[in-house]
Amino acid sequence: MYICKNCGQRYVTDEAVICVNCQAPKGMGDQFCPCCGSQMATSMRICQNCGVDVVDYGYGTSNKSKVAAGLLGIFLGCYGVHNFYLGYIKKGIVQLGCIIGAIVFAVVLIFFMEMNGPNETTAIIFPLLLWADVLLILGVEIWAFVEGVMILCGKINRDGKGMLLRN
Ligand SMILES: [Zn+2]
Ligand SMILES: [Zn+2]
Repeated sequence: MYICKNCGQRYVTDEAVICVNCQAPKGMGDQFCPCCGSQMATSMRICQNCGVDVVDYGYGTSNKSKVAAGLLGIFLGCYGVHNFYLGYIKKGIVQLGCIIGAIVFAVVLIFFMEMNGPNETTAIIFPLLLWADVLLILGVEIWAFVEGVMILCGKINRDGKGMLLRN
């Protein structure tokens, strides 16, 4: 039986579209456990009364904004900023690490090219390595851009804790 997340009352019938007790539309609210109906803080994920993970019931809203996360992904995403913002720390570190690594590698490479002047090795190997490096940066950029778009259109709609992003 469905339980109102706004007032904690049990629905008379699951087919009801609003709560007859508080008039809230079905699915609205985040003050009460959707499993046992006891009151709980919005920031909690596990109900202290019955122990369920309320995120499985679509309960709990993240304090992270979907639009902010999406735009961060599109414009600064290659540094992993949107993933740090959403709490996907490991993914953010991978993206930031790739970019920093690629930039350091490029600088070192250009430095050695300047140092050694043109010879057989530098003329073929170094430009190839540089291109591979540029491709890596491009790859991370595209990866982050796609994530940004997915966040904006709701394909990625939860933060690192599993809470639904707010609009
Ligand atoms: Zn209600
Ligand atoms: Zn509960």
